[in-house]
Amino acid sequence: MTTPSLHDVVQAAHDLWPVSLAEDWDASGLVSGYPEAPVERILFAVDAVQGTAREAVEAGCQLLITHHPLLMRGASFLPASSDKGRVVHTLIEGGCGLLASHTNADSMRNGVSDALIEACGVTEARPLGDPEGETGIGRVGDLPQEVSLHELAMRLASVLQPTAGGLRIAGPKDGRVRRVAVCGGAGDSLFDVVRAESADVYVTADLRHHPASEARERALLQGGTPYLVDCSHFASEELWLARGAKMLEVHLSDQGFEVEILLSSLNTDPWDFSITPNEVPVSASTDPEGSGYAR
Ligand SMILES: [Zn+2]
Repeated sequence: MTTPSLHDVVQAAHDLWPVSLAEDWDASGLVSGYPEAPVERILFAVDAVQGTAREAVEAGCQLLITHHPLLMRGASFLPASSDKGRVVHTLIEGGCGLLASHTNADSMRNGVSDALIEACGVTEARPLGDPEGETGIGRVGDLPQEVSLHELAMRLASVLQPTAGGLRIAGPKDGRVRRVAVCGGAGDSLFDVVRAESADVYVTADLRHHPASEARERALLQGGTPYLVDCSHFASEELWLARGAKMLEVHLSDQGFEVEILLSSLNTDPWDFSITPNEVPVSASTDPEGSGYAR
């Protein structure tokens, strides 16, 4: 077994998650690093932020692989005084390259949404809106046995990383669920496809008020489904890290390369705590000045 170069690792990653599968607007690929530099240790993380950059350097990694691209919309200036510039400087000065595998890792089989739908208990899934497809965005599949919406949410909650926002669910706790649609990360552009798939529940992240409200209005006209489960964006994608790391390790090993792959220990969900208003004692929630609004 030999130590691969950065070029070898990038090649292996692109065999597993071909950049040709990335969406047009995406920026998956190698951001920085010397192609000939040896890579003995790699860190996998969801986000390329200062925390994960430092974690990679401090752990002696020569490559940080993140799901989210650092420079999605391009950059003209990267001084170390800027947020993204600081990340780039930390990595370059620490001798660590940066590679993003984003919508290509979403699309490919065994990708981000496969990890999410398996966490729901679905073992056979296919891309949303494409009955014959092998690759594509989101996944849909049937649970071996119908469960309640509450059971499904509890099952997910037991495997997702803990985050302040937890899970938000639309639908009755005892609603019956068999067909599950998922999209790791922000999936509120896929409601039409999810409805066309006759999914009983749609698990995704970052659902905003209006798309979620309109989806529920439509669902209530049609028996109530799809119910919605809204997770942390980070948590919905973090599930993929272990799988992606294992796939890369095996693929490199098949070529005679040995690397050590670590998973980030950082939770990069941006929220730290949440308060549910009906859990606040009445005295604490009363505004002594009065809001002036009658309810
Ligand atoms: Zn994402």
